Amino acid sequence: MRSFFTGPRQKRRACSGQGATVKDRRQHHTGGYAGSTYPQHVFGFCPRCGSDGLCSRDGRLFVCSRCGFEYFINAAAAVVALIEDGRQRLLMTRRGREPKLGTLDLPGGFVDVRETAEHALIREIREELNLEITDFTYFGSFPNTYPYGGITYFTLDLAFVCTVNDLTTVRAGDDAEAYLFVPRHEIRPEEIGLDSIREIVRQYLSSPGNGSG
Ligand SMILES: [Zn+2]
Repeated sequence: MRSFFTGPRQKRRACSGQGATVKDRRQHHTGGYAGSTYPQHVFGFCPRCGSDGLCSRDGRLFVCSRCGFEYFINAAAAVVALIEDGRQRLLMTRRGREPKLGTLDLPGGFVDVRETAEHALIREIREELNLEITDFTYFGSFPNTYPYGGITYFTLDLAFVCTVNDLTTVRAGDDAEAYLFVPRHEIRPEEIGLDSIREIVRQYLSSPGNGSG
């Protein structure tokens, strides 16, 4: 027969030893230490039974010690567009919102639930820059962390080299504060705020047939 102190209660104690109590997590999640907005520091209660038994040992799988509810943290898909004009200038945006407000960025955004990456690419560039993509090729995938509203999202940014039919219709909208065409040789990676975007630009500029030629 199972003792009162085995099972759920014991699991909870083991999990708590990995980090902080629920109260501590609440107090610290806006703090400055690395990873403080990661889900294991923010999620304190089970979304199914409401108890404080929810915990995670690895930051990926969350298990409720009271009701057995399990939840996985997976990467959210996002799309990024590499668009050049006819004069070897890359179309970049100035971030109009956190994280990294005011830094340079590439146009793009999150893929909606049940949406294809291709559709998201076309939709995001239409919403953000009023441009119509007519052709695109897949460039690569780049993992990123995206802290927003007190919690960090883990994303996988899918980059595409895009062609648009008419660049004269461009205007900044949605979450881009401004757009700018930056000559390849004037691009300074340190002005790009998001790690994945900086890496996309770096690889794009050094890849044959793109920036290096
Ligand atoms: Zn539960």
